[in-house]
Amino acid sequence: MVLAATSVASSSTSAWAYYVGTGVTPDCHERLTIDALLEVVDEIEPGLIVMASSELSQNLTRYVATRYGLEHLEERHQQLAMVLFVGVRDLDTGGGAALNVVNLRHEHGGRHQQHAHCTRNEDDDYAAGDAVAVAGCRDGIVKNANRSWRASLRPAPDQIIDVPFVLDFYGGVDLPVWAPGFLLGRALHGLQDSFSHTLRTRDYRRITHVMNYTDAIGPVEDYDEARDGLRHSVAMDACSDDNAEIVRATRQATVEMIRAVASEWTTATQGAALTVVDRWIQYEPGCEYPDYCDSPWLDYAQSDESYPFTGCSTASDATPDGGGLGLVILVGLGLGRRRGRRPSATE
Ligand SMILES: [Zn+2]
Repeated sequence: MVLAATSVASSSTSAWAYYVGTGVTPDCHERLTIDALLEVVDEIEPGLIVMASSELSQNLTRYVATRYGLEHLEERHQQLAMVLFVGVRDLDTGGGAALNVVNLRHEHGGRHQQHAHCTRNEDDDYAAGDAVAVAGCRDGIVKNANRSWRASLRPAPDQIIDVPFVLDFYGGVDLPVWAPGFLLGRALHGLQDSFSHTLRTRDYRRITHVMNYTDAIGPVEDYDEARDGLRHSVAMDACSDDNAEIVRATRQATVEMIRAVASEWTTATQGAALTVVDRWIQYEPGCEYPDYCDSPWLDYAQSDESYPFTGCSTASDATPDGGGLGLVILVGLGLGRRRGRRPSATE
């Protein structure tokens, strides 16, 4: 069983939502999550974590541990890192190959499924749309956190679930993961998107404006900034020195959410996750088009906006300048059950 990670330099493409790592985008969601986990991991009782014993789960755990320098953690904490890694990627990849652009468009372009990424649905217009989108964003995060808590109450063997996971260049597999951790990862994705897809107050505690992906990548003539909101920003999706302050706030919220959900697992009582959502995701009205209360992040957000992939206004100069390297997951599988067809060229 060989595990290999291949890093390739980032190249231009519009991407989504604090990039999930692919061959062409930096692994921003994953790094935020692993960094946050490292801050709180000592507080998480290893005995809570139910290990998936499949060879695939173990191989992927070793891959994540090697890639992010987690070999010093104990085995169960390493597997928690893997499960969070899979969960935080899931909303952007839907378990699909992150290199599959069609798959990504499907996951992100659903005109009424935008709240999972804290962006506006097609009909979330004007300031009222901000309020609706923030409420939907909160709901998605709370739902995943609640599902995590409920999963933690099941008998240990029932806490392992199979989730679809695609290894780039290899194909689809059913990956056994610890459900509470996987669902926490999904909640963290939404929480992190609530920083990269919005303008916030200067203390980053409240959201003043929600960006728009679905209209921004549609026909140019159908998009109206005053009605639809700011275009989704490729620049905001990067974890770079230029937006380090936002990334720092995002990591702080991520730390608090991991700590909160872990405390729910430990005490079997609910409520801590909602407190974190209340602390970080509230709508503050009154900062609309055209000046957005002079947000210090307006120029940055507009420096690299999402446009339709085809057509005269394609943002051909859009580059993920997060400074990170892309991520291609190639894992020697052996016993992994394949769901998709293995492309013969990569055998
Ligand atoms: Zn997202």
